[in-house]
Amino acid sequence: MSDSNYTGQIEAYLGDEAVAMGALHGGINAAYGYPGTPSTEIMEYLMAQCGKYGDVRARWCANEKTALEAALGTSFAGRRAVVTMKHVGLNVAADPFINGSLLGIQGGLVIAAADDPGMHSSQNEQDSRFYASFAMIPCLEPRNQQEAYDMTRDAFDISEYFHVPVMIRLTTRLAHARSAVVLKPAREQNPCVKMKDKTEWMLLPVFARRNYSRLIEKQEGLAAWSEVYPVNRLELEGRDTGFAVITSGLGGNYYEENLDDLTALRGKVPARLHIGAYPLPVNAVRKLCQNAGQVIVIEEGQPFIEEKLRGILPPNVKIAGKLKNFDGKRPGPVVRTGELDPDNVRAALELPPLPNILSFINNKDAQASLDSILPKIPNRPPQLCAGCPHGDSYAVIKKVAEELDPVPNHPSVAITSDIGCYSLGAGPPWQAIESIVCMGASVGMARGAAEAGIPYTAAVIGDSTFLHSGITGLLDAVSFNTPMTLIILDNSIVAMTGCQETIVPSAKLRGLILGLGVAPEHLVELEAKKQLVEENAALLKKEMEYRGLSVVIFRRECLEAARKRLKAGS
Ligand code: SF4
Repeated sequence: MSDSNYTGQIEAYLGDEAVAMGALHGGINAAYGYPGTPSTEIMEYLMAQCGKYGDVRARWCANEKTALEAALGTSFAGRRAVVTMKHVGLNVAADPFINGSLLGIQGGLVIAAADDPGMHSSQNEQDSRFYASFAMIPCLEPRNQQEAYDMTRDAFDISEYFHVPVMIRLTTRLAHARSAVVLKPAREQNPCVKMKDKTEWMLLPVFARRNYSRLIEKQEGLAAWSEVYPVNRLELEGRDTGFAVITSGLGGNYYEENLDDLTALRGKVPARLHIGAYPLPVNAVRKLCQNAGQVIVIEEGQPFIEEKLRGILPPNVKIAGKLKNFDGKRPGPVVRTGELDPDNVRAALELPPLPNILSFINNKDAQASLDSILPKIPNRPPQLCAGCPHGDSYAVIKKVAEELDPVPNHPSVAITSDIGCYSLGAGPPWQAIESIVCMGASVGMARGAAEAGIPYTAAVIGDSTFLHSGITGLLDAVSFNTPMTLIILDNSIVAMTGCQETIVPSAKLRGLILGLGVAPEHLVELEAKKQLVEENAALLKKEMEYRGLSVVIFRRECLEAARKRLKAGS
């Protein structure tokens, strides 16, 4: 599957861009996605480049579920598609993702999921490899931009060979770092050909049972493929086989940065297996550890490999990683949360800190002189842009909450919220919101809190998040005329991820909400403006006091979007 037919053309790509180019050169007909750090740049690059590749569509969708469903339709028509999302987006797409593994995938289908260890811009550190394992599909984990390009191309071939979706798992540092990539010629697109056997795509129980059995049968072939896929590299020749190392993803790079020192410390290069493709190459793992007393696992994310090893290796092989140390005690030597880096991998390998750092740390004079010349930079938590419309909306929301219940912490008021720039309303000076859980959760939570008895309940959500998954929560509230207020902060853009266009423009939002059944007299549209705080507060208060469902839209364009629009001359 892996062809080495390079053209010699070299380009510098972000990891995300390398995935985009791998998809374009892999012959995609369509790309669908929802923005989310660190995956956004895959689709942005696809949108910028797809015009050069003929009949290729690259489109943002309402959410990750609708994006994956559109890609399933492309595969159904025999053509190749890529879907892009961040790791938590995979939760939203979980239904078609898991069921997709049971279908007779025809056109290659690749899911590019970008994980965010360290939670730079995310609400958790979940590791997408678990999802691939749960769905019983292959997962490819590149460790550099070249692999991101090559493996994305390979992923389409693997998908069509085994008739399953394939996941490409990226992490933040790879997604956002730039490096040289040698390109291969672009592949032709598949023709549009529907499958002859329609039952392959019908998960009626009778067909789903058959397809599930087939998926289980495919596991043997996938396991055999994983053993020979060249990225899964076993290094035994001339190595110290008593001490084994398993690396994956970026962990492999950080390990190699420390390898000379580790070799000097131990007197010999340890035996090693680098894993970049799953299912786990079990035979390679057993071969690596056949003489090993100890094995250490260096993997980015959650302890996915480490957990699986405990069922593969005999108890006399001591395993260390994120969970446990060689003595079986917790915690393990590899950092359990956040990102790996060369220093914490070095520490996990029991290497001393690098000499220059060590000498600096121990040298108080050097420290003092450095302190004296470095400017004192205060800690600056993230903040809304100065003049952001959300600030003017929060001034209103905070004022109304205080008026409705002057008791500190306002026990009679609940303000749930969501994910976007407006999440910063949690911090000073607003401290206006009380929950941030997952995309769209503010609406359902407000409904639950209102029905549980909190008298003045409001959900604060951005226009894009509302369209992503707040809309179904509003349908629930409409059906019971729940006494709550949905506050939509409409800035006409997906601001937090770099100003992508929303799926429904602001001008159509009113009609959409009325169409869901919200009473026109309780759909109020306000301009988010400093000069209108008093006036807007009176109107919001009236709606929050109404004992039924109301929707209040605060509207003003995001400043960053306006800047980009003016720069583009529109
Ligand atoms: S990018 Fe736009 S929405 Fe986000 S804080 Fe800045 S002005 Fe506000």
